[in-house]
Amino acid sequence: MRYFPAFLDLDGAVVLVVGGGEAAAQKLRLLVRTPATIRVVAEKVCAEVAELARRGRVELARRPFRPRDLDGARLAIAAGLADPELATLVTAARGLNVPLNVVDRPDLSSFIVPSIVDRDPVVVAIGTEGTAPVLARNIKALLEPLLPAGLGRLARFAGGWRAAVARRLPDGRARRAFWERLLAGPIAEQVLTGDLGAAQDAAEQALQGAPALPTGHVALVGAGPGDPDLLTFKALRRLQEADVIVVDRLVPKAILDRARRDARRIEVGKAPGGRSTPQAEIDALLVREALAGNRVVRLKGGDPLVFGRVAEEIAALSAAGIAWEIVPGITAALGCAAAVGLPLTERGMRRGLTLLTGHTRDGPAEHDWAALARPGQTLAVYMAVGKAAHLQERLLGAGIDRLTPVTVVENGSLPEQRLATGAVGNLVETLIDGGIKGPAIIFIGAHPLRRPVALPGAAPRPAAAQPEFAEAA
Ligand code: SAH
Repeated sequence: MRYFPAFLDLDGAVVLVVGGGEAAAQKLRLLVRTPATIRVVAEKVCAEVAELARRGRVELARRPFRPRDLDGARLAIAAGLADPELATLVTAARGLNVPLNVVDRPDLSSFIVPSIVDRDPVVVAIGTEGTAPVLARNIKALLEPLLPAGLGRLARFAGGWRAAVARRLPDGRARRAFWERLLAGPIAEQVLTGDLGAAQDAAEQALQGAPALPTGHVALVGAGPGDPDLLTFKALRRLQEADVIVVDRLVPKAILDRARRDARRIEVGKAPGGRSTPQAEIDALLVREALAGNRVVRLKGGDPLVFGRVAEEIAALSAAGIAWEIVPGITAALGCAAAVGLPLTERGMRRGLTLLTGHTRDGPAEHDWAALARPGQTLAVYMAVGKAAHLQERLLGAGIDRLTPVTVVENGSLPEQRLATGAVGNLVETLIDGGIKGPAIIFIGAHPLRRPVALPGAAPRPAAAQPEFAEAA
C-alpha cells in the first residue's frame, strides 16, 4: 500500500484549482460540497466554472498560474494544464509541500482522488493506486445499490445520540449493544424510510433499556418483468435483507438468485395447470410470518400496484397492525415496450396510454370499447392472450381501424422473449402465427421502432409452453 487512505478536513481550508475546463468542472462538483474556500486560476473557463464564479462559490482569477497562488493552500488540483505552466505548478507545489493532484497524471501527483460512493456524511472511497481507475468505477457500481440513499441520514441520526449515549450508558458493553440496536433493525429502518419521529421514540426506549421486540414487517416488492437487472436498488436491498420471501410462481429464478441465500422461500400463486393459492391463504401467511418477527418480502411480477391484487394483502396487514411498504417495479407494459423499442406515446400522434386487462374472474373483460377504439392512443393489454378473440371482436365492433398496429411481446426482457406484429384485423392470427402462449402484453396502436437484437443464450421456446399466467383482475 503505497498510498495511505485518509479523509481530509477542509473546514476553513483553501483549495487551489488550476485550470477551468471540463476536467476542472468535474473536480469542482465535489469540492463545492465541502466547506473549503476554492480558488480557481485559469485563463479560459467553461460555462460551469464561470457559473460557479458568478454565484460566488469559487474565487476566479483569469490569468496564468503563479507560484504565489499556492500560498496558504491545503490542497491543489491541476486539471487540463499543459507545460510549461504544469511544470511550474508541479515544482512549486513540491517546494512548498502542498499536496497536488494532476488529473490523469498519477506520476506527477502527490495524492490521488478515489472513486466514491457518496452518502454524505458516509463516504466509501475506492482506490486502485492509479492502476485501474475503471475497476474502481466498477466496484463503485457494485456498491451503489447496496447502500441505501438514506444512509447519510442514519449516520446523522446516530451522531445526534452520541452525547446522550455517552452520558447515560457509561458501561462500554451496554453502549455497544445500544449502537447495534440503533444501526440495524427497526430503528434504522424507520430512519431510512424517513420516519424520524418513530425512530426517535424507539431510540429513547432502547436507551432506557426496553427490550427489543421482534417487529416484523412486509415489503410488497415489484420484481419487474423478469430481467434481474431491471430490479430497483430498493427491491434488491429488500431481497437481501429478507427472512422470508413469499413469491409468485411467475417470478423467474434469476431474480430469486439475487435474494439472501438463507431466506425462506414460499411459492404462492398459480402453478402451471395446477391450483392457485387462495388469496385469503396468502394474506394469512403474510400476517403470520410478520407477527413472528420476520422481515417478509412479498415479491410480485412487474409492479405490485398494477394488476397485483395488493389491496387485499394490505388490508389484512393493516388490520393486524403490521407495518408494510410498497417497493415499485417496472410493470410488464413498460418492460416489454423498452425491450422492443416501442414508443408508448408519440408527439402529435398518440397522447395517452391505457393499461387494461383482457381477463377477469368471470371471463373476458368488458371495457368502454368506444373510448378504447378511438385513434391517438396506445393500449397495453395484460392477461389477454387467451381472450384475444374477444378483444379483437369488441374493438372492431366499436369501429377501430382494422389496420391499427398490434405488437405482442411475450416474456419481455427475458432470454426467451418473443415478438409478434400484426394489426387488429388479424389479431388472433398474429398470436397463433407467432406461437404466443403468454405471459404477454398486447399493444394496440403502436409498433416497435426496431426488432430487438437476439439476446445471448436465447433458446426457442419449448412447444409445451406454460399457459398464460392470469390473475383475476
Ligand atoms: N403486476 C404485474 C402484472 C401481473 S398480471 C405487472 O405490473 O407487470 C400478469 C400479466 O402481466 C401477464 O398475464 C402478462 O400479461 C403480463 N406480464 C407479466 N410479465 C410479463 C413479461 N415478462 N412479458 C410480457 N407480459 C408479462
